[in-house]
Amino acid sequence: MPAAFCIFCDIVQGKAPASFVYADDRVAAFMDIQPVNAGHLLVVPRAHASHLADLDPHTGGHMFRVGRELAGALGASGVRCEGVNLFLADGEAAGQEVAHVHLHVIPRFRGDGFGFRFGPDYGFVPKRDNLDQTAAAIRKALEN
Ligand code: AMP
Ligand code: ZN
Repeated sequence: MPAAFCIFCDIVQGKAPASFVYADDRVAAFMDIQPVNAGHLLVVPRAHASHLADLDPHTGGHMFRVGRELAGALGASGVRCEGVNLFLADGEAAGQEVAHVHLHVIPRFRGDGFGFRFGPDYGFVPKRDNLDQTAAAIRKALEN
C-alpha cells in the first residue's frame, strides 16, 4: 500500500519535479536533490514498496541492473567520477529516510570526504566458530 504521502511516488508519477536521467515501465532514475557528489543519482521503482522485503524481486533485480548501467554512464559523462558506490539503505536503522525503496548511485573520487563511519567494535576479528554459527543461522533463515 502506498504511504499517505510519498515524495518518490509523486516524482515517478510526474506530480513533483525531478531531473530524470532514465525511465522505463518499472523504474525511473533522477538526480538526488542533496548530492553527496555532483552526479549522485537515485534509481526508484515505480510501484511503491517501503522496504526491500516488499519489493517485487524482478523489479529489484532490474533496479540493480539499471544502477549498473548508470554507473557506467557516469564514468563517460564528464562528471567527476573515479569510482562509484551503489548504496541502498533498507530500514531507518540503516539510514533510510525516504520510505520508498531506492538505490543510490554515487560517483566517487579520491579525497571527496565521503565514507562510512565504523563503530567502536570494528576491527575485531571474530573466531571462525563464531562466523560459522552466524552463517548457519542465516542459511537456516534462507530455507524458510
Ligand atoms: P535515504 O537516506 O537512503 O533514504 O536517502 C534519501 C535520499 O533522497 C537523500 O539522498 C535525499 O537527498 C534524497 N531526496 C529526498 N527528497 C528528494 C527529492 N524531492 N528529489 C530528489 N532526491 C530527494
Ligand atoms: Zn512511494
